[in-house]
Amino acid sequence: MSDKEIKEEIRLNGIGASPGICIGKAYLVDKEGVDVVEKYFIDKQNLDNELKRFKTAVKQAVNDLKKIIENIPKEVRNHTGIIETHVALLKDRKIYDKTIETIKNERVNAEWALKKVVTGIKVMFESINDPYLKERSNDINYVSNRIMKILMGSEEVNIAKIDKRVVLVAKDLSPADTSQIQLDKIMGFITDRGGRASHTGIIARTLEIPAVLGLGNATKIINNDDTVIIDGSTGIVIVNPSEQTLNEYKEIETREEEHKAHLSFESCFKAETIDGFRLPVMGNIELPEEVASVLNHGGDGIGLYRTEFQYLTRNDFPTEEELFDNYKKVVESIAPKPVTIRTLDINGDKAVASSNGMDEPNPALGLRAIRYCLERPEIFITQLKAILRAAAFGNVRILFPMISSIDEIHETKKYLNEAADLLEKEQKAYNKNIPFGIMIEVPSTVIMADVMADEADFFSIGTNDLIQYTLAIDRVNMGVAHLYHPLHPAILRMIKHVAYIGNKKGIKVSVCGEMAGDPLNVPVLLGLGIDELSMNPQSIPAVKNMIRSLKMEDLKQFTKEILIRTTTGEVIKIVEASFGNLIG
Ligand code: PEP
Ligand code: MG
Repeated sequence: MSDKEIKEEIRLNGIGASPGICIGKAYLVDKEGVDVVEKYFIDKQNLDNELKRFKTAVKQAVNDLKKIIENIPKEVRNHTGIIETHVALLKDRKIYDKTIETIKNERVNAEWALKKVVTGIKVMFESINDPYLKERSNDINYVSNRIMKILMGSEEVNIAKIDKRVVLVAKDLSPADTSQIQLDKIMGFITDRGGRASHTGIIARTLEIPAVLGLGNATKIINNDDTVIIDGSTGIVIVNPSEQTLNEYKEIETREEEHKAHLSFESCFKAETIDGFRLPVMGNIELPEEVASVLNHGGDGIGLYRTEFQYLTRNDFPTEEELFDNYKKVVESIAPKPVTIRTLDINGDKAVASSNGMDEPNPALGLRAIRYCLERPEIFITQLKAILRAAAFGNVRILFPMISSIDEIHETKKYLNEAADLLEKEQKAYNKNIPFGIMIEVPSTVIMADVMADEADFFSIGTNDLIQYTLAIDRVNMGVAHLYHPLHPAILRMIKHVAYIGNKKGIKVSVCGEMAGDPLNVPVLLGLGIDELSMNPQSIPAVKNMIRSLKMEDLKQFTKEILIRTTTGEVIKIVEASFGNLIG
């Protein structure tokens, strides 16, 4: 021990994007980056050579990406789209032509010209408070880095060639990087940038690899071969853990694995309370590839198919045919179990391509979800047609996000009828008789639930947004994250009211926000009168297990007790005291 340096344990907090614990050695990708670029002037006689050097580098970058597309494993084939976007971006006029112009006009080296052009674009993008453009700025970063590395002769780390079990640590992982991951080598992801809705987050969840993203400066703190612990559920990363921390987490890891194995074994059993109350437990998905995960974890169907991701990874809008193929695939692969397809919920925390410079100061309160769709009927009708067509192939329900007034329901129905009429004229097979649901995520809709219930076949409470809009807490602002809690008494009263109205009016009420995936919230939701739950697929086994441990009869007194509490802390205390012992 004496000559071995003892490194200090460091704890970092990021965004838990894919649950699970992993302990392993760090492997830094792109640590050096290409931040230091030299500037030098090019003589007139060498200008053609310099231009050729740039063009050859771009050509090589294009070929490299094309090779990656050809070799993509089938699990993540759906992600070739974004790599194709990167190929297109390599030749984009804003980068390619502008760099050539700068080399010629300023007689500077290609690296410097490229850096100047890219910095200009990034400054412009980043000054606009639009998450979509911010994400595109990452794409530009990525492709310019690729060209830069070729120009500078530095080596690109080839993720496909990693030959030991490691935890990947990167500033960001591009879709081209993540698509090359071999499951037997990569134990987890840690990145400086990105969030739950980033590609890395989605792929990590699809592949069930623990991931903590958005750490800010993890690549500056973590060194190659450092031991790291990832806790993908809490978003904690521990670097150089002490002997004691390591042992603690090894124990947690073993316990979680045993618990997971036990729960998965039982996940095929139905979710029924001891006194015979049966409740569907469904999965939330973002990609067709996740259907398998819902089925493997014992889901009774898909309670929320978030369709926006097909729009986020490209620069144009998907066609009816593309959407239809995608939805049909999901509907057929889960049939006869149901799929709730939610229409486009964009802007807010997820912005869409071609949003035409919509530079909203307050996107969560802006032209988001149904509001966006009603403003862009051509985009809305294209999606509605695709959903109605896919509904001819299985058990489909349609769900509309962020409804805040009855007028929006009327207008939505008008477009749904229009979509059906068009399909009739075009003689395409479709099914219009599908349950029409609205998301309850805006306080006005809770208050108007009785009126809304006369217009809808079901309600789905989106607690992620209901909490945001009720408690005035931006769900992506880490600074107020500590105030964001589903067990806030105001939220409980709202859920109770909606469940009561649903019951009185004879329509089912489900909860599909993150709240539903925490087993400790399950007795609360059941007690409040919720009929169905939908959550990320990995949470299904633990939630089903909790339901099987409960008695509806016992929940009556418990529910009365939590509803008279006035603070979140008091509610949590009662919930933990009553059901904490049932958590593995
Ligand atoms: C919600 O708001 O709870 C929800 C399920 O929708 P999203 O997280 O996609 O906004
Ligand atoms: Mg929502």
